[in-house]
Amino acid sequence: DTNRPYIGRFAPSPSGPLHFGSLVCALASFLHARQASGTWLIRIEDIDTPRIDSAFSPIIIESLAAHGMHCDDVYPNLADAGACEPDENTKHKANGCIVYQSERHHLYQDTLNTLAASNSIYGCACSRKDIRSRASYYDQHCRDLGLSFEQHAVRWKNPCINSSFEDLHFGHLTVDPRMANEDPVLKRADGIYAYHLAVVADDIAQGVTHIVRGADLIDTTVLHIEMFKALGAQPPTYLHIPVAVSEAGQKLSKQHHAPAIDASRASDNLKSALMFLGMSTEQLSPISNTSDVSKIVSWAIDNWRPNMLPKQTEILTFQANNVYC
Ligand code: GLU
Ligand code: ZN
Repeated sequence: DTNRPYIGRFAPSPSGPLHFGSLVCALASFLHARQASGTWLIRIEDIDTPRIDSAFSPIIIESLAAHGMHCDDVYPNLADAGACEPDENTKHKANGCIVYQSERHHLYQDTLNTLAASNSIYGCACSRKDIRSRASYYDQHCRDLGLSFEQHAVRWKNPCINSSFEDLHFGHLTVDPRMANEDPVLKRADGIYAYHLAVVADDIAQGVTHIVRGADLIDTTVLHIEMFKALGAQPPTYLHIPVAVSEAGQKLSKQHHAPAIDASRASDNLKSALMFLGMSTEQLSPISNTSDVSKIVSWAIDNWRPNMLPKQTEILTFQANNVYC
């Protein structure tokens, strides 16, 4: 891994504007990449059409820019791997290429074809109700039925060999093996490519070496690592960061109507996000009397220390609000 050039990314789903929780994730992935003099990409994960609204994509990108986060171009030698096709609609001022999953169906189909060639996928006719009536996780019911890929969901034959991984922050993590070893849906019966397929296919195509993202995605990581291996790719290094949750245990998220961050308060938002990421007030004091976003960001790149991240995977929102917002 050490001789691959660092490529990191922030991969928001445009189901709402940037909120405090997604600002924190974006900032951590940005600081980690920039401190390593690495490339930092933005990828808009807009394939889940019923749940996303593409109107939020430019709002998120503007909001990141207002907080001093501009992305790089995809590595030039990866451009012909379908990593990015710059055009006037997708090329944002002051940014490199921004990749939209909604424009990359060919890559996901190619990836499915690769898995099909090694007999690693199968059609599944089970409804959610069918599955739940048998077990809490999918039980590989259709693995050997030879159902077509066309009118059915398509699942991956997960080799089920592992349920733990090494996280850069949390160390050795073991996830629920029923989750890690489930045969995930890669394409839904309605024809929509699933998150697990798109995220792995894109991270491979873009040469991503480091994934910094919210701890709510820890449970999916073993599955993703196994998919990298099945596709002959080297899995990236993972760094999960704590997520803000409500008292009811819900992730601070767009689905739960977390408020949009106000870009006119960008420097205060950045300071709050840095404190959430474990930087103390005293550490921030050299920059506390400036409202210059670029100064805060360059200070943060120099002073980013992932070992200062809080050790818990979840931080209560009311604490986040009281202390940080
Ligand atoms: N698009 C996913 C989300 O917004 C993140 C995927 C990832 O970082 O791997 O939750
Ligand atoms: Zn089935």
